[in-house]
Order: sequence, then structure tokens, then C-alpha cells
Amino acid sequence: MKKLFPTSTAGSLPKPSWLAQPEQLWSPWKLEGEELIAGKKDALRVTLQEQDRAGIEIVSDGEQTRQHFVTTFIENLSGVDFENKKTVRIRDRYDASVPGIIGPVSRQKPVFVDDAKFLRSQTNQPIKWALPGPMTMVDTLYDDYYQDRKTLAFEFAKALNEEAKELEAAGVNIIQFDEPAFNVFLDEVNEWGIEALEIATQGLKCETAVHICYGYGIKANTDWKKTLGNEWRHYERTFPAIQQSSIDIISLECHNGRVPLEVLSLLKGKKVMVGAIDVATNDIETPEEVADTIREALKYVDADKLYPCTNCGMAPLSREVARGKLQALAAGAEIVRKELSA
Ligand SMILES: [Zn+2]
Repeated sequence: MKKLFPTSTAGSLPKPSWLAQPEQLWSPWKLEGEELIAGKKDALRVTLQEQDRAGIEIVSDGEQTRQHFVTTFIENLSGVDFENKKTVRIRDRYDASVPGIIGPVSRQKPVFVDDAKFLRSQTNQPIKWALPGPMTMVDTLYDDYYQDRKTLAFEFAKALNEEAKELEAAGVNIIQFDEPAFNVFLDEVNEWGIEALEIATQGLKCETAVHICYGYGIKANTDWKKTLGNEWRHYERTFPAIQQSSIDIISLECHNGRVPLEVLSLLKGKKVMVGAIDVATNDIETPEEVADTIREALKYVDADKLYPCTNCGMAPLSREVARGKLQALAAGAEIVRKELSA
């Protein structure tokens, strides 16, 4: 990318109220059948227009066509039982009723490929597409079949790789794997989490990214953050191995948290998507606040490798707040761009 500080979002954006109940995760669709298919396409057009108007350079689908960033992909795999859900603890944090693995998992059909082709037909901007990461998928299910987290993660990684290759062929420029679980199971990240990502990205020629955050701004996550102490140094444990991996871009939560940004120096040589927008508050950042976060990150990341981004997805926010935050992100990046060119 030639322009400095190309902006993007971590993933989800609010859906229009005619498509799904706003400000809610796992919100059920309001349409069905042909109307739902057409409605999702319209939502893609709307989210693209909103990102474009805000000045976001690397655009995404805003996850308009999926109910949830993990479950929608899992729904399209064989070997998963959605009828008999069980309650499990997710990321050691909150209980959820989840499906189970009852047989070999494999991808039965493309999941997001048609959506990606449609998005490609609507824009000339670079597209980033998010998929769930293997470790985060493992952590969102119960497993009565493999009964081993690493084995299951590698099976998921193979299914993700099939999807990723087709997304690449559809014209996606950056494929991102969402791994919030990487900030929880630190030993497992080093033991097999990164290896699983390498399987998921094998053979891809487009750029690859991993998004590691402290989660959506939902209560379970903000409560958890209160228990993490004054300095959040989780990244420090996993970055050395991530720096050694073949993943091109690391997407992180940097604004308003307690992450000491010096940990970014452990990612030398990688591109870094610096989260400069807090998704856990309705307060809209000023462009100057965004610029401050970028300036701070610039102490540890080369300017040509710094991509301003949001901390995480914005699905639970109102559309108005999300729009304001996108505009602040683009304006903040422009401030620092001008400073560097002066
Ligand atoms: Zn996130």
C-alpha cells in the first residue's frame, strides 16, 4: 500500500435495523428466504458506502451476512451437532449454549465466497475478510469426538484453509483470522495455536492477518478486563512466536486499554493494525485522540507498517456511534500523515 496509515476496521459493523435487531450479538434475522438474501446484499452495499464516506481505505463486509463471527462458519461444517447444545464456559469468562462436535469435521460448501464476490463487484478498494481462528473456534464448542483441542484446531484449520483459498480467488486482498482466545490460553498459543494458523494460511498468496483483542465491549468482557490488573502484558507472551510466523499483519487492541505499547516492538518486521478506537464505549474519540494512539505506536512500529484500525468489532454499537468512530479513525490517521509529510 503506497499511502501511509491505510485505515480499516477489525471486523463487524452494526447491521441495519431492517435486517437484524441492532446493538445485539447473535441477533436473529428479520427477513427470510429470497428477501433475506437480497437484504444481506443491500446491507453490504450500505456498509461499504458508510466505510467509503468515512474515508476507510481497506474495506470489509462488516460481517453483515453472518449472525456471529464464529458460529456462522461452524454452522457450515459437517460433524457439528446444533440440535443438542450444551452450556460451556467461553474463554474462561462467560457461559454460552454451544453446539458440539460429534463426528469428523469438514467444510461441506463455501461459506462466505459468494458474499466476497459480491463485495468485490461493488468496490475497487482493497478488501479484508475476517474468519474465525482455529483456537477461538475450539473454544466455542464442546467436543465429544476428538476430545483433544489441538487435533480439533488442526481440523478446523484445514476447513478454514479451503475457505481462505476461495476467498482469495474471489478477490479478497487480506484474509484475517480472529483469535481473541490468543489473549487467554497463552501456553496453547505457543504450543499449537500459531501452528494451526500456519495450516489455515498455507498456500495463500494474498496477505494474512491475525486479530488478537480483549473482546467486544460486552459486559462479560469489560468485567474480565477489570480483573487483569494495571498492565495487560498478554501480548508479550505470544508475540515472539507470532513474529517468527508467516502471518503478515497483526491486529491489536491499543486504545484505552492497559496494554503497554512497547510490546509492539516484539513484532519487528510485521505490519501492525493498531486499534485506535475503543469499541467498549459509546464515546466517540476525537481525531486528536486517534492521532495520539498512532503517534505512540509509531515509537515501536515503522510508519509504512502501521495500519490504524479499531480495537475490535463494532456490531454491538449503534450505527450512529460506529459511523462517528469510523470518521474519527480516518481523520486521526490524516493528522499524523500530514505531520510526517510536513
Ligand atoms: Zn476483537
